[in-house]
Amino acid sequence: MSPFSEVRKIETDVLIIGGGVAGMMAAVGCVRSGVKPILITKATFPSGSSSMARGGYTAAIGHSEPTDKPEFLYEDSIEASYGICNHRLMRIMSEEAIDRTVELDAWGLGLIRMEDGKYHQKNSASHRFPRLLHCGKLMGKPLMQSLAKKMREWGVETIQHAIFVDLMKEGDRVVGAWGFLYREGVPIVVHARSTIMATGGAPQLHEVNDSPPYISGDGYTMALRAGAELIDMEFIDYQLLAAAPLKIRGYPPHTSGFINAGAYLYNKDGERFMWNYDPERGERATRAVVNRGVGMEIFEGRGTENHGIYLDARHVIEEVNDGATADIIRVFKTQGVDMADSPIEVSSGPHTYLGGIRIDEWGRTNLPGFYAGGEAAGGIHGANRTGGAALADSYVFGLRSGIGASCEGARLEKPDPGSGGWQEGIEKLRARESNASGPDDKRLRLDVQRVGVEGIGQIREETRLKGALARLDELEAENEQAAVAGDIPRKRFDCMRRIQETHNLIGVARMLAEAALARTESRGGHFRMDHPEISEEWRCNIVLSLEDGQVTPRRQEVVDEDGAAPAPLETPTTAAFAEQGGVV
Ligand SMILES: Cc1cc2nc3c(=O)[nH]c(=O)nc-3n(C[C@H](O)[C@H](O)[C@H](O)COP(=O)(O)OP(=O)(O)OC[C@H]3O[C@@H](n4cnc5c(N)ncnc54)[C@H](O)[C@@H]3O)c2cc1C
Repeated sequence: MSPFSEVRKIETDVLIIGGGVAGMMAAVGCVRSGVKPILITKATFPSGSSSMARGGYTAAIGHSEPTDKPEFLYEDSIEASYGICNHRLMRIMSEEAIDRTVELDAWGLGLIRMEDGKYHQKNSASHRFPRLLHCGKLMGKPLMQSLAKKMREWGVETIQHAIFVDLMKEGDRVVGAWGFLYREGVPIVVHARSTIMATGGAPQLHEVNDSPPYISGDGYTMALRAGAELIDMEFIDYQLLAAAPLKIRGYPPHTSGFINAGAYLYNKDGERFMWNYDPERGERATRAVVNRGVGMEIFEGRGTENHGIYLDARHVIEEVNDGATADIIRVFKTQGVDMADSPIEVSSGPHTYLGGIRIDEWGRTNLPGFYAGGEAAGGIHGANRTGGAALADSYVFGLRSGIGASCEGARLEKPDPGSGGWQEGIEKLRARESNASGPDDKRLRLDVQRVGVEGIGQIREETRLKGALARLDELEAENEQAAVAGDIPRKRFDCMRRIQETHNLIGVARMLAEAALARTESRGGHFRMDHPEISEEWRCNIVLSLEDGQVTPRRQEVVDEDGAAPAPLETPTTAAFAEQGGVV
């Protein structure tokens, strides 16, 4: 049978795209609302950045510091966000993270407890108290295992190795998505009453990153093409990643553990440069400022030959030699670097995307039948986030998106399985498969990543951003002609997956560049050399949409708790939750 000839068609109530924490928590929300979703993921199930989580997640449960409470987490988060997080969403996250903690631990997460049975909480970036709940060493594995076990217990159907290419619509409403199973070369078309995007961020846009290679911003571009709005795309949360030895370049050292303990950062001239960027806090500045400082040192030629700077933890090594940091010490040792004797070379790389699909309190987007959660969703954290808040938000809004999607789905008509325009997309796939000559997709991916670093990287300015946009047009044209390479069908299908991902990365890069161009100031995870100061005029969010094929930015007033602006999106009513048996 020729590839892409047979189509796998599925009809369901709720389609969840993504098998990380947000996707699985969305499934929890569906099950709790009396709906069985289908969860489909590109990599194996479960997967995603979630599986690599190390440090822990934040909840103001007050076990290590009894006076702590959600109100304080909320305040710290607003401060860390440089004033532009969505206050309503942050309030929800701060309050509900505690319930999610108790629930997840009861499902076998295995959080570390103290002798009195209370949870142990660690210090983390921008928190006034120790709030990080953790599993000792790595967190991702127990987290994914305990959630995946629940999925099996509840009979949630999962499909893996499927890349979704586009959302399907009937009028304004999203009615599912189509893509292909890239191991078999079989198109997959899923019609659903409602669809949840939980595809994570887009770290692959940058050459040095700490995330799995298949997390390529697919959800952001699918959403934009379908007419959804995205918010805060100019803000990325950077982390200090290994710059050398090259074998472990990009290794996620989670160096914040060392920084929190008092490690020093030096440039190649031996200067503790962070005092130039934050004279009061030095290396203890917000994560955004530390990474900006590192980026500037490298940009201005004071970095090492591996484009890094030195992190010296010798004086705190005993203190931090446990949990995730011990793992880092061990990995460097395997490469012949003993952190007890010498500094390590680190560089700043993207860790999480703070922006994403604009959602309301129930994960609902501006399109009927379409929801988002986790890193695919944006606006919760503003310009910078506190440590451990990415997981906390994925739990909280992942779950909420499942409840919201189930409730709305129950009110919506079942979509027509012939609808959504998937036939045309699949025709294109068939035609594409035989394209054996053209540019090499792997080289193209590297070229796009180069734009990700040089044009729209951490240190930005108008000329470079505009240059990046022009270069992206060229790369897009090349990517359309890319050769589908491989001597066996499976390799060709895999190549088609990569080409689609590169297309998506180009789309994300455009969004990032447009938002970064519009924001003529520097704030949190966004730094403009030509506008280095923070400006009150820009205390707002930037929302992106596709107008006449162009990524178009507009300003949105910060959503505060008084509901001053903007008009809230329509949300499922409390009565609807009760009908569905939903409990938040
Ligand atoms: C090394 C590392 C350590 C981290 N440590 C911490 C930490 O300690 N604390 C913290 O708060 N945060 C941490 N983070 C961030 C946090 O882990 C993520 O923000 C969070 O897990 C995102 O979850 P998610 O479910 O939204 O996305 P992911 O976990 O990335 O899952 C995305 C899913 O979508 C699927 N997918 C993607 N595209 C498609 C497509 N086109 N079709 C179908 N499926 C698709 C993928 O296969 C995957 O299953 C860390 C991140 C990294 C990389």
